[in-house]
Amino acid sequence: MAAGYDHCLVGAGIVGVCLAITLAEQGKRVLVLETGDLKETPGLQAFYQGEASAVHPPAHEYRRQRLGGTSHLWGGRCIPLDTQDFEARPHVPESGWPLTGADLAPYMLRAHEMLDVGAVAYTTQALQASKKELIAGLGSIAPSVIENIERYSLPTDVGHKYRAVLQASQNILVIMRARVVDLELDAATQTVTSAQVLVGESTQGFKVRAGEFVLCGGGIEATRLMLRVRQSQPSWARLDAALGKYYGCHFDTTLGELQISQARPRFDFEKTVDGVYARRKLQFSREFQARHGLLNSAFRLHFQPYANAQHGSAVLSTIYLLKSILPKEHQDILNHSRGVAATDSQKLAHLWNIARDLPSVPSFAWEWLSKIKLAHRKLPYTLIAPRTSKFPLDFNSEQVPSARNQIALADQADAQGMPRVCIHWQLTDQDVASARASFMHLQAQLQRIKGVQLTLNLNALEAQLQDSHPIGGHHLGSTRMGATPKNSVVNHQLRVHGTTNLRIAAASVFTTTGAANPTISLLALVLRSFNAPAHSSDQYEKLQPL
Ligand SMILES: Cc1cc2nc3c(=O)[nH]c(=O)nc-3n(C[C@H](O)[C@H](O)[C@H](O)COP(=O)(O)OP(=O)(O)OC[C@H]3O[C@@H](n4cnc5c(N)ncnc54)[C@H](O)[C@@H]3O)c2cc1C
Repeated sequence: MAAGYDHCLVGAGIVGVCLAITLAEQGKRVLVLETGDLKETPGLQAFYQGEASAVHPPAHEYRRQRLGGTSHLWGGRCIPLDTQDFEARPHVPESGWPLTGADLAPYMLRAHEMLDVGAVAYTTQALQASKKELIAGLGSIAPSVIENIERYSLPTDVGHKYRAVLQASQNILVIMRARVVDLELDAATQTVTSAQVLVGESTQGFKVRAGEFVLCGGGIEATRLMLRVRQSQPSWARLDAALGKYYGCHFDTTLGELQISQARPRFDFEKTVDGVYARRKLQFSREFQARHGLLNSAFRLHFQPYANAQHGSAVLSTIYLLKSILPKEHQDILNHSRGVAATDSQKLAHLWNIARDLPSVPSFAWEWLSKIKLAHRKLPYTLIAPRTSKFPLDFNSEQVPSARNQIALADQADAQGMPRVCIHWQLTDQDVASARASFMHLQAQLQRIKGVQLTLNLNALEAQLQDSHPIGGHHLGSTRMGATPKNSVVNHQLRVHGTTNLRIAAASVFTTTGAANPTISLLALVLRSFNAPAHSSDQYEKLQPL
């Protein structure tokens, strides 16, 4: 039995690693238990298998078990939640966090430093080309439609970056291949007395004691462990109103045709003044969303689908044909989760694209090698503007919290006896209606700019939106935060309601999903809950990544 630790962190992904270092700097003794090894192994990864509703990715995809967790795979896109995401909005049922964006703000800088995202600056003022607009004339439809930026991490793999820091710290012990499968509670005090740990793929294990237990296993796995503990804790019936419920991802679709026949738009990745890759996006302002009852969302200029050879681009065709060398999740992102397999005739059409514009392929290969593969700060991905200046729009949206979307335990268990998860996800009518209204409002607004026209196929719009997919890797809401167990699982300090020493530090605590990729806000939220200092320590710079 390991003992004597102030904190036991369950999981060494982005949250677990960054939190361990932060707590150790505060002089706390930290034990980190990580199911995975230094690299993924198929046997361990199989623990993630489960059931999922049709359009949701399979349960074992979009998350990794290894030192650094899913940061080995993430895209590094960082966008803070917006002010309205924290607010109780009359048109969004069950909305309203028990804290505000201003409460998180002081912790954003450290989160940015730890994940190499640069300054906490998300307006176009942060760009080197700050005077330009995404589409010339956009200013004329502000403040209804506003232009903001998203910033990109290296993308930082925290397992790689911080391994030496973890090893060098006197205050941190990381045990790999150590999976927490249950928690023991003193029923009278609601204090976690120990965690049951199994080693590797075996059913042998040990128990650990610590002052406090923090579940950092990612949104799905933290929920799974909570549901497992609930099975043996009748007193946890108090959490049943929200535990496992209100699960949400963001939903994503690409549609419409934005014809820009005036000046060329700022389509490509740009650099911020502090040298971070960034890209522009469009959003409706908080006031506009409130006035029209819209969910929060974002629009980006997109390129034509890789799979459709009609784009005529040798580079897009090359990427499409070579995609099988990518991880499955990245292939799905390329295909917008549609899992389209090219037929022989489509393959021929792609080869024809390549043959027609062969000279563009070596320059793409050089860019890929120098700016993506070998670069320290990587170009996030290759953007190819459509030749016709007709841009499809990429749309990401918030989802309404719905108790029907949930993570439950399946009847089957894995090889270590841990019940598998059963994920139920679907769009609500309000999600689809809000997305439809958002496209219509955008069309009306853009019409006011000379030389810009958004064409929507109104007959197909509803069906296209119904066919939107969840964004894999964003596992939100199933242990949501709130003031009371009547509609939440943890409080504003991430402590499980009614317990003395159990916290959840995963994106499952998000009360509402927002439209932003979750990781940067999640990290700031966790750092806040543990009173982290504003800046990260410069000790990371002194240690070379292994
Ligand atoms: C393809 C892809 C692209 C993404 N792109 C972006 C992006 O651009 N921007 C963004 O914000 N987010 C992105 N994400 C999401 C991002 O990766 C996650 O939000 C982030 O990794 C969450 O960090 P975490 O520490 O909570 O969980 P993870 O990084 O998943 O780490 C959890 C760790 O806990 C361990 N663990 C789990 N259960 C246990 C247990 N019971 N005992 C011991 N250890 C356990 C796991 O093995 C794992 O190592 C992306 C995800 C994917 C898959």
